[in-house]
Amino acid sequence: MTQYPHLFQPLDLGHVTLPNRILMGSMHTGLEELGDFNRVAAYYARRAEGGVALMVTGGMAPNREGGVMPGAAGLLSDKDMQNHGKVTQAVHDAGGRIAMQILHAGRYAYSPECVAPSPVKSPISPFPPAELDEDGIEKQIADIVEAARRARDVGYDGVEIMGSEGYFLNQFLVTHTNKRTDRWGGTYENRMRLPVDVVRRVRQAVGDDFIVIYRLSMIDLVPNGSTWDEVVQLAHAVEKAGASIINTGIGWHEARIPTIATSVPRRAFTWVTKKLMGAVHIPVITSNRINTPETAEAVLADGSADMVSMARPFLADPDFVKKARTGRSKTIAPCIACNQACLDHTFEMKIASCLVNPQAAHETDLVYAPAAKPKKIGIVGAGPAGLSTAIIAAGRGHKVTLFDRADRIGGQLNLAKEIPGKEEFHGLVDWFATMLDETAVALRLGEEAKPGTLAGFDEIIIATGVTPRDPGIPTDGGHVVSYADILTGRETAGKRVAVVGAGGIGFDVSEFLTHEGQSPTENLEDWLQEWGVADPGDYRAGLAPDGPQPSPSPRKVSLFQRKAERPGKRLGKTTGWIHRASLQMKGVQMIGGVSYDRIDRAGLHITRQDGTVELVPCDTIVLCVGQESDRRLADACEAEGMKVHVIGGADFAAELDAKRAIDQGARLAASL
Ligand code: NAP
Ligand code: SF4
Repeated sequence: MTQYPHLFQPLDLGHVTLPNRILMGSMHTGLEELGDFNRVAAYYARRAEGGVALMVTGGMAPNREGGVMPGAAGLLSDKDMQNHGKVTQAVHDAGGRIAMQILHAGRYAYSPECVAPSPVKSPISPFPPAELDEDGIEKQIADIVEAARRARDVGYDGVEIMGSEGYFLNQFLVTHTNKRTDRWGGTYENRMRLPVDVVRRVRQAVGDDFIVIYRLSMIDLVPNGSTWDEVVQLAHAVEKAGASIINTGIGWHEARIPTIATSVPRRAFTWVTKKLMGAVHIPVITSNRINTPETAEAVLADGSADMVSMARPFLADPDFVKKARTGRSKTIAPCIACNQACLDHTFEMKIASCLVNPQAAHETDLVYAPAAKPKKIGIVGAGPAGLSTAIIAAGRGHKVTLFDRADRIGGQLNLAKEIPGKEEFHGLVDWFATMLDETAVALRLGEEAKPGTLAGFDEIIIATGVTPRDPGIPTDGGHVVSYADILTGRETAGKRVAVVGAGGIGFDVSEFLTHEGQSPTENLEDWLQEWGVADPGDYRAGLAPDGPQPSPSPRKVSLFQRKAERPGKRLGKTTGWIHRASLQMKGVQMIGGVSYDRIDRAGLHITRQDGTVELVPCDTIVLCVGQESDRRLADACEAEGMKVHVIGGADFAAELDAKRAIDQGARLAASL
């Protein structure tokens, strides 16, 4: 008897029955563009082995002009066909099913060749699109249909037609991007003609025994987006045109409302999908910020959808489904929705992976093989680097002992947990604790390891982390504290606060200081109000008429940096704008290009870029000026002639984050 009866109910699609209600949603990894399809096949096959009912590939271009960028992958050549055949074969051999997403980017394409219903440039691409004429429109439809036919020919079980997130099909639907006056523009019937024609002609081309998913934007979150009546009208038309399943899209890419970041509450948008339940006769899938079997089960149990899509959670743990089915949910590596190794990588043109699971999309080059000869391994420091090394080394069969002078594991992760909007870090630390147990790591907390303690180990790993940097600002009185003091509650900030240093931690601390009470991430109503999200049945595209309504900050906070650039510029590509917007809503002043002259009881004395000298009156000054490596133990061991591996912050402190620490730990553990 499963713990998740709704999740493990089969889904009958007529010609095929899916074994459960879990879809692996589309995620672009960049592996296809790399051209190594053995690696692409290994990535999908690994996830098929994990028992997911159906997977959707990353977006494949139907033609050159529709690719998200020049050189975007697609099924355009014979070579492409052979390559994709490897993928479908590997997935089927592993007992899985896979659908290919057809993604035409329209005006979102980062390419001078981009095309769109009207020549309206998007705010997220520098290239103005060319307006399509009648022949151009026919070509786009024919190319999408051909992509679907080819997908079937190479063995895919279905296609997903990307009709949401503001891409090409979505651009036809709304007057914001469709200014046409011919049969493809004007009335809603005309504007939806293209998406509906695409579905009808795809169905005609692929026959009845092939899955056709239509990803439909249910809440556009942009001005002049679709009304709810239009959403329902489109859903009916898409069903009639032959779609097997409707998947949910939330928000256009240009929307200024976060939709998948970690600060978005879990299942924040399933209520939108639920509004469509009962309106169509085909299954409806919901998505966004669903990352545990418990959440997924609850979504299905309360009738919000027929099936649940999760994308990033399958990067974090390919065995999500298998573990949920066999009562081992606690061992599922949690996706913390950080975007740091997946979407941020994609936007930086790097291969996507996962902060929690560096093996994701590296299945062939990062292998955790059973240890040929088990060794005794001593690791000092139970932060992300030490934890990652410990569980992987122990999982390979080594005998691992993990020391930390603190009385709990987690290191700097315990600070991240305290930030409103970063609650997912609790799950990450809990998962590490479970895995230490599962892999029988001997945990010695509250113990300061010395060189003598480590003498009997075959391999010694020093992951002692970092200490906060002292910026050396002349100080004569005043309440000066470090970020760690504030986040651990050792110190409490006054009403007027200057935050010195605007890196990731300066932003996090400012977030911490401008909230009080329950985090909006844990209260959906508050979060929707904070970001100005309304019921699309009441307000077009789900935008509240009064806009964002954040709760007021309990403090006046100013955030400083020396660099004469926009504070927050170096934060994550896909999340930096959310951090900046969130602090702006709380009235935080963000000031770059300053030098710090001195601190006294009156506050922080600075000189601005233009030479103006200024006193920033404040009750508390929080130093968030980076860290330095804590190498004391490493140096002591080396002084005694011991050979040690130094990893994480102890190795290199600058811009250390959990992604780098976990990755370094994993690679070392794989090599021992
Ligand atoms: P950081 O990102 O390196 O930022 C340090 C800040 O201190 C910078 O603003 C720097 O800017 C300033 N600074 C450096 N030396 C200084 C000095 N001697 N005097 C005065 N100011 C100085 O470090 P962090 O904020 O401590 O974060 C540590 C790591 O954790 C980073 O890699 C960060 O990305 C990561 N992290 C990530 C997130 C996330 O959301 N992804 C959140 C938290 C932390 P100026 O030199 O311009 O003043
Ligand atoms: Fe999830 Fe972060 Fe991993 Fe991406 S990198 S899959 S968001 S945990």
